[in-house]
Amino acid sequence: MAVSHRPSHPSTLSTTIPALSRARFKPGKLMEGRSMVIETMDSRALRNPYSDYDGNPASTQSLFDSQGRLTPEFSQRLSSKVNELLSVMENGLRSADPRDCTSYTGWTGIALLYLHLHKVFSESSFLHKAQEYVSRALKSLTRRHDVTFLCGDAGPLAVAAVVYHRLQRPQEADDCINRLMQYHETVVKGSGSLPDELLYGRMGFLFSLLFINQQFGQDKIPLDYIQQICEAVIVSGDHQSRRFRVQNQTPLMFEWYQEQYVGAAHGLAGIYYFLMQPGLVSSVEQLHRLVKPSVDYVCGLKFPSGNYPPCVGDERDLLVHWCHGSPGVIYMLLQAYKVFGGPGYLEDALQCGEVVWRYGLLKKGYGLCHGAAGNAYTFLALYRHTGDHKHLYRACMFADWCMNYGRHGCRTPDTPFSLFEGMAGTIYFLADLLQPMRAKFPAFEV
Ligand SMILES: [Zn+2]
Repeated sequence: MAVSHRPSHPSTLSTTIPALSRARFKPGKLMEGRSMVIETMDSRALRNPYSDYDGNPASTQSLFDSQGRLTPEFSQRLSSKVNELLSVMENGLRSADPRDCTSYTGWTGIALLYLHLHKVFSESSFLHKAQEYVSRALKSLTRRHDVTFLCGDAGPLAVAAVVYHRLQRPQEADDCINRLMQYHETVVKGSGSLPDELLYGRMGFLFSLLFINQQFGQDKIPLDYIQQICEAVIVSGDHQSRRFRVQNQTPLMFEWYQEQYVGAAHGLAGIYYFLMQPGLVSSVEQLHRLVKPSVDYVCGLKFPSGNYPPCVGDERDLLVHWCHGSPGVIYMLLQAYKVFGGPGYLEDALQCGEVVWRYGLLKKGYGLCHGAAGNAYTFLALYRHTGDHKHLYRACMFADWCMNYGRHGCRTPDTPFSLFEGMAGTIYFLADLLQPMRAKFPAFEV
């Protein structure tokens, strides 16, 4: 059960990735007879119909001013769309799985959206909605020993703690945090098969702790506890690098379901993004000796297009998703640029932006994990780091695409109203764009 069910993360994994990686491409062989059926990034995306940024203020004046402030008209358009889609979502959620408590596809994801809307619009009704949904989540915890923010019970507990904190109910908030921290020792020690990646592993638990500290505006969870998790991840990565005999290429290596994934959701880039956050790896020496060369190893996996493979050794340049490919790897690159400096990381990150601009309007739809909204966060990350209006413009164009929800013949996701696959994620992005310098990819960016 576990094995066949687990990689049910997004269609990408259950259908594409295992097949992809089992049938590893032999490029030479492919050229002989099958070149006509080569699938490319093109076949997964719809053609980007928008003109690119040309630097001319006339082309952006309906969107934002010379300081990057959104115009009242464009802000109004975003806000109206948020409200319109919210009522469609509320209606659709009536047929959602009542027992799915997760942030990824279930009630906690909806609660997280309302928490976000409460912050953006300062309307108390949003906070009450968040409470309503997270209470529903708490009643149906997975109890599957999943420990992460996105797919396990840590998400509902962390989000509930923050909801109660905002409602000024400190005892209930503390109660949630205490329940969450009961997992800490198990996560640090690892129970046999506990992975390290974000969706099901240690980093997904770690995010819950960072989320609480960030939302409370203080170190509610002492830094030591967070560092212990990073230490366990480094020990695990060092061990796996030896086991796979790749120490000469990369001091750290991580596996999930017998594959060495590269992207943000299951792979190396997601793990390194967190290891590079200030203070999380307590030893600066380790950061330079172990993390930096491991980041450089991921950089070396870049395809000529500027995109990244879903798994080490996979030659097919197909997926431009947050979960697999450049829209997720970019966060590692920008963090490496911040921490280690040098022009290389930023150049690679800018290249991710070009890939997403060209191939990021996915046939899979408008969601966060593998859709246009998630891909649009690539531009917001670049805008925050560079201040270049080109990236803000591109984010606005992807928002325009998302505001035409359902009009491009995209496929309907399995959970069409959820945070990570469906409409809740699109709404989250549209609301985030109202304050572009503060925007952060939910349940991931710190
Ligand atoms: Zn995905």
